[in-house]
Amino acid sequence: MHVGIIGGGMTGLGAADELSRNGIRCTVFEKDSALGGLAGSFQIDGVYLEKFYHHLFTSDTAAKEMIERVGLADDLQWLPTSNCYYLNRIYRLSTPLDLLRFTAVGFMDRIRLGALALRVRTVKDWRPLEQITARDWLIQMAGEGVYRGVWEPLLRGKFGRYADEVAAVWIWNKLKLRGGSRGSKQEERLGYVRGGFGRAIDLWEKQLRERGVAFHLNSEVSRVQAENGSVTGLVADGQFLAFDSVLMTAAPEILLQLAPDLPSEYRQQLAKIKYLANTCLVMRLDRSLSDAYWLNVGDPSIPFTGVIEHTNMQRPEDYGGAHIAYLSRYLDTDDPYYQMNAEPLLDAYCPYLERMFRGFSRDWVKQVWRWRERYTQPLIGLNYSRIKPPFETPLNHLWLCCMAQVYPEDRGTNYAIVYGRKVAGEMLRMSG
Ligand SMILES: Cc1cc2nc3c(=O)[nH]c(=O)nc-3n(C[C@H](O)[C@H](O)[C@H](O)COP(=O)(O)OP(=O)(O)OC[C@H]3O[C@@H](n4cnc5c(N)ncnc54)[C@H](O)[C@@H]3O)c2cc1C
Repeated sequence: MHVGIIGGGMTGLGAADELSRNGIRCTVFEKDSALGGLAGSFQIDGVYLEKFYHHLFTSDTAAKEMIERVGLADDLQWLPTSNCYYLNRIYRLSTPLDLLRFTAVGFMDRIRLGALALRVRTVKDWRPLEQITARDWLIQMAGEGVYRGVWEPLLRGKFGRYADEVAAVWIWNKLKLRGGSRGSKQEERLGYVRGGFGRAIDLWEKQLRERGVAFHLNSEVSRVQAENGSVTGLVADGQFLAFDSVLMTAAPEILLQLAPDLPSEYRQQLAKIKYLANTCLVMRLDRSLSDAYWLNVGDPSIPFTGVIEHTNMQRPEDYGGAHIAYLSRYLDTDDPYYQMNAEPLLDAYCPYLERMFRGFSRDWVKQVWRWRERYTQPLIGLNYSRIKPPFETPLNHLWLCCMAQVYPEDRGTNYAIVYGRKVAGEMLRMSG
C-alpha cells in the first residue's frame, strides 16, 4: 500500500510515523518549504523560534514521547511560568494566593473563581457540556460577576463575534489542561525544547526519511482524484500521482476544494465547520516587557488578546540576549488586522503597548515579524459531536484527520500526533 498524505504538520507526521513503522509506504505533500505546519519555526540568528508561540503541558505524553524518540529527552525542559491577566494593570494569576489578590473582581468573585478551578477537575463526563454554551456554564458555575469580569473579555477576545456560540466543552478543556500542568506547589510548569521545537521536527523528519517516508516540500496538492467512488491519487504541482489511499490533514474547507467528487450531503456537513484565523506579531526587544510569560488581555479595547513573552520561559541568552514577545490575535480573514504586514501592525499596536507596559517605546523593538494562517482554531459550537466528521470519508480510500476532529479535547501538537496515529491505526485495520 502507498499512502499520499496531504500536509506536513504534526498530524501528517504522526500518521506517517505510525504507517511507516508498520511497513506502509508514505509520501507527504507539504505546500510550505518546511515541515511543522502551525508548529513550524523560523530562525533568529540560527536559533529556531516558533512562528506561533508553543509550549507543552505535562499531560502531553505523545509529544513528549516523540521528543524522546528523536533523541532530545535531555533538552525537554519543564519550566515554571507565570500566568497573568491584564485589566488596567497586570495581575498574576498563577497560584491560589494570586487569586486572592486579584482585585479586578470583588472578594466573593475571587473565591468563586478559585472554586471554579477546583470544580472543573470534578467534571468527568463532558457530554452534558456539549449542550450548554461556555457563557451559560461559566455563569452557572461561578456567577455573573466572574463571567463579566474575567471570562467574557477572554472569550470575546479569542472568538470575537462567535463568542456566544462556543460550547462549555471547549472552556472546560482549557481550564482542565492549564490546571493539570501544575507542580506540587501549584505553580504552572510548561514544556519546551531548548533551541526550539524545530529541532525536534528536523530530527523527526530525518528519522522518517530513514524509514522510507518521502517528502515533497513546496508542493501544494490541487486535486484529489477519484473514479467510481474510490480515490485513485492526487494532483500536486500539476502532475497526477497514483496512491492506494490519500489522507487529508488540512482543514475540511480545503478538502472541499480539492475533492469535488465528495457527495453533497457530506459536503454540507463539512461546510458547517468554521475556523478562525490568527495573526501573530513577533517582536525582538532589547528589554523585557514585564515578568509575565502568559498575559491574557482582558481589556476589550486592546486589539490583541495575548502577550506571550517567550523569554520569560526561555533564557534571553539563548537568543543573543534579545527578549522575544508574541502579540496574538484570533480573527476572521476580512478583519483589517489580518491584512496588515509586520510594521503597520506594530504601529497599530504601539499605543496599546505604551498603555500596558510602563516606559514602553517603539525603539525597544529591534526587529519584528508577522505570521498569519487562515485555519488555526476550529469553532467548537453546541453539540459539536454531531457535525464532527469521522476519519473515513464517503470516497473509498480517502481519509480525513485534522484539527477539527480533535474533540472533546482541544487542538494542540500533542493531540495532532495522537490523532495522526489513530487515523493511521484505522487505515491499517481497514487494509487488513
Ligand atoms: C497561535 C497558536 C498558538 C498555539 N500554541 C500551541 C501550544 O502552545 N502548544 C500546542 O501544543 N499547540 C499549540 N497550537 C496548536 C498546534 O499548533 C496545532 O494544533 C497543531 O500544530 C496542528 O497540526 P496539524 O498537522 O493538525 O495542522 P497544521 O499544522 O495546520 O498542518 C496542516 C498542514 O497542511 C499543509 N497544507 C494545507 N493545504 C495543503 C495542500 N493543498 N497541499 C499540501 N499541503 C497543504 C499546511 O501548510 C500545513 O503544514 C497553537 C496554534 C496557534 C495557531
